[in-house]
Amino acid sequence: MALLQLPSSSFFSNISQSKSQFPSNSFCLPSLHHYAHPQFSSLPSLTKRKFSSFGSFAITCSAHDSATITNEKSELVKEKSVSVVLLAGGKGKRMGASMPKQYLPLLGQPIALYSFYTFSRMPEVKEIVVVCDPSYQDIFEDTREKISVDLKFALPGKERQDSVYSGLQTIDLNSALVCIHDSARPLVSSTDVEKVLNDGLRIGASVLGVPAKATIKEANSESFVVKTLDRKTLWEMQTPQVIKPELLKKGFELVNREGLEVTDDVSIVEHLKHPVYITEGSYTNIKVTTPDDLLLAERILNTDSFVSA
Ligand code: C5P
Repeated sequence: MALLQLPSSSFFSNISQSKSQFPSNSFCLPSLHHYAHPQFSSLPSLTKRKFSSFGSFAITCSAHDSATITNEKSELVKEKSVSVVLLAGGKGKRMGASMPKQYLPLLGQPIALYSFYTFSRMPEVKEIVVVCDPSYQDIFEDTREKISVDLKFALPGKERQDSVYSGLQTIDLNSALVCIHDSARPLVSSTDVEKVLNDGLRIGASVLGVPAKATIKEANSESFVVKTLDRKTLWEMQTPQVIKPELLKKGFELVNREGLEVTDDVSIVEHLKHPVYITEGSYTNIKVTTPDDLLLAERILNTDSFVSA
């Protein structure tokens, strides 16, 4: 079976060990992904299909079982009904590189193109609105002949939320869902995107997340521990964050009117007191922030190539 071929790298065994600490009723293995990776795109189509099917071989766990058994539900989200807002307008200073981190090469391809290609191949996706500085538009323009989704651009804002707002102004008004993704997360799998899209349609707002592995403490301003948070209830948020466009627009109106602080897209919806669902994703959907993350992303991609061989 495919899963027995997983390499015994410490990265993956760490994932498995930490997952087993959670109070779930079953064991959860990392699913294998079909990334938009140059090496992978050159695989013969049979291998691609075989490889893709591994992605749906997910043994789900946690309290979210009923919503994360996905494949029967994927028809819920109609073809060409999703607008993706791909955020690529940040400066990425923590990487210390001469260009924003999302354009650095990852195994020879700009980081931002990985998730761009993943979305562009999904039947549910109608259009991708890339929020980026005009000087980087060429990177995406050059893909036009290879993709079958509409490609649009929007200008970035000062903060991430301003960039989301800018992207929202550009989407097709008839879209059922807006799917906001950080281009600095190149390794998101289409299997996880489908899951979060289905949950977004069902609930109105959903976000990919993984159970927190670390023990997290609350401290006061003098760095003394106030309390230890219960890890069983904590989730680390990722992207995509999927929201019905009318809900996101209402949320922005409220946030702007009342000057509320928001840290991510779904917290805009939380201010409306609308429920937000956490769809269990994968630990491999990392955000590339520092040079170490770039090495880890390469390692993950190479590991998947090894499995597919
Ligand atoms: O800086 P951080 O890693 O949190 O940014 C998350 C994503 O949001 C990145 O993909 C970045 O390019 C994007 N971003 C943006 N506009 C901003 C700030 C960040 O599009 N003003």
